[in-house]
Amino acid sequence: MTAIIIDGKARATALRESVAAEVAGFVAAHGRAPGLTVVLVGDDPASAVYVRNKGRETLAAGMVSGEHRLPASVSEAEVLALVAALNADEAIDGILVQLPLPRHIDADRVLAAINPAKDVDGFHPVNAGRLATGLDALVPCTPTGCLLLIEEALGNLSGKEALVIGRSNIVGKPMAALLTARSATVTIAHSRTVDLAGHVARAEILVAAVGVPHLVKGEWIRPGACVIDVGMNRVATADGKSRLTGDVDYDGALARAGWITPVPGGVGPMTIACLLANTLKAARARLG
Ligand code: NAP
Repeated sequence: MTAIIIDGKARATALRESVAAEVAGFVAAHGRAPGLTVVLVGDDPASAVYVRNKGRETLAAGMVSGEHRLPASVSEAEVLALVAALNADEAIDGILVQLPLPRHIDADRVLAAINPAKDVDGFHPVNAGRLATGLDALVPCTPTGCLLLIEEALGNLSGKEALVIGRSNIVGKPMAALLTARSATVTIAHSRTVDLAGHVARAEILVAAVGVPHLVKGEWIRPGACVIDVGMNRVATADGKSRLTGDVDYDGALARAGWITPVPGGVGPMTIACLLANTLKAARARLG
């Protein structure tokens, strides 16, 4: 068997286009576009690239893009004051504080200060709690994107054996909640899991969100499984450069899986597209 390679880029382009069409309708109805504002603290180069891409895609979808860049030396109180000002700004529907924050700033405190109705990253405890209890919520973008790809490949997920490797608040836990809500039978693995290979061998749906290059070996994979690789690991190449690779041994998995996402070009592009969808959702909810 050779797996079908899931084209996350193409799926994300289609989602961004449909969001842009709905934004046009929103503007016609409300006389203004949804607004997304990103807060970037410090000069982490990877974060700067993400923020630039988010700004570009926000504008391309017809939304208003705002950006606040603060120096790494900024105090937690100053960041909290900015978040409070953004909460109070009626023209802003979505607030995203780019992680990681410098060590002297308590990220949990900053995320909890965002108005949950503007929490387009879905990291606020209110949104996490609403997702966990089956209420409508702003759901984290990466697992939302993964679910769209899985459902497109498999259709109905009811009764499917799913394994999520990783239990972060950003990916693993919300991913497990989304799959549970679709009536999959979900196992969550983490760094203390015994016999990871045995769990992988049972999974019809495998989501790897770990951050360890090629942790999942191709021969572990259940034949025909849908393999979603969230990992984004930068590894050195022989020519002294570097490249991105996933948590799954892609070449090995290709021969056994039914569907697989490449890295890059799989899950990554879906994340920003789902952020735009969340911003539109937040704007609609705020304006009734
Ligand atoms: P994280 O917060 O570091 O969580 C990693 C999880 O992996 C933890 O739950 C950890 O277990 C588990 N883990 C570590 N080593 C393991 C092992 N040997 N076996 C099984 N589980 C193990 O990371 P994250 O934020 O969820 O991100 C995970 C990966 O996804 C990273 O590569 C990140 O760059 C990528 N990512 C990609 C996107 C995207 O848009 N494509 C978005 C977000 C993240 P413990 O809980 O026991 O420590």
